[in-house]
Amino acid sequence: AKDAGGNQCAFFDIGMGELTQQRFLTEHELRIGIPAGELRLFVQPQVNAAGTLVSCEALVRWQHPRRGLLPPGVFIPVAEESDLIIELEHWVTREACRLLAQEEMAGNPLHMSINISPRHFRQSGFCDWLIDLLQQEGNDPAYLTLEITEGMVIDNIDELVAKMNRLSKLGIHFSIDDFGTGYSSLAYLKRLPIDELKIDKTFVQDAPTDPDDGALVETILSIAHHLHLKVVAEGVETPEQAMFLNSRADVIHQGYLFGRPEPADIFLARRWQTLS
Ligand code: C2E
Ligand code: CA
Ligand code: CA
Ligand code: CA
Repeated sequence: AKDAGGNQCAFFDIGMGELTQQRFLTEHELRIGIPAGELRLFVQPQVNAAGTLVSCEALVRWQHPRRGLLPPGVFIPVAEESDLIIELEHWVTREACRLLAQEEMAGNPLHMSINISPRHFRQSGFCDWLIDLLQQEGNDPAYLTLEITEGMVIDNIDELVAKMNRLSKLGIHFSIDDFGTGYSSLAYLKRLPIDELKIDKTFVQDAPTDPDDGALVETILSIAHHLHLKVVAEGVETPEQAMFLNSRADVIHQGYLFGRPEPADIFLARRWQTLS
């Protein structure tokens, strides 16, 4: 974009670095792309030690008209800098609830986790919006898990507790994503209505070979055990990693060893096939 030849990029060239231009353009295109229907819901399976599907995680992708299918790392950080993340997660949540209601109605209910960013969860109307949506779609809230991060816990804990309690009473589950990668104290764990901890893939992947990561994973498993929380291990790629976990605790696995993220319709179609 340094010398575009024509005048297409001239506007962006005034006082902006290349990276800033890229982010600016990404934000602009995403703002148009969401209402234009360019987001795609991908889903990754979560299985128990016996290999049975117990739940799944919704992971968004962006079918960009020129750049192709984009992973979230390219656009989520940009979206998170503004209210655009709220619009994006509204789309993901609506899509997820629609699919869950559909599976429920067909007599084959499925659990699904969705990622909720701090900015979105802290928005004053979040609970009302979600409750309305669940009512509209006719969902049983018990099939929905909200993944939040430790970063959420840093300020205004009373308000956070109140919101989580309200949703938790309706049956919605909560999971702490990327557990152990944040900075917060562990004290919040007993104040919040949490059901599950997710171990980040960086810990999981090195656990069998790196004693430090191994000890970290064992510590997380021990915390979860004492607080009666479920554990999901992210990024399980090898039998060694799965074995490390299975020999220590009752862990739910999410990783390439058991299934990659794939378009929700393909995931659901295969699920029906294995049932019949
Ligand atoms: P995350 O929530 O930690 O999700 C797990 C990531 O690990 C996903 O990356 C998944 O594809 C990847 N993964 C799963 N198993 C394996 C494995 O065995 N090996 C490796 N190398 N990777 C594995 P993905 O789909 O690229 O998503 C990246 C991040 O984007 C997510 O990390 C999440 O933080 C964010 N994200 C995705 N959808 C949303 C959303 O709707 N809202 C928000 N706020 N963030 C989202
Ligand atoms: Ca997640
Ligand atoms: Ca995450
Ligand atoms: Ca992670």
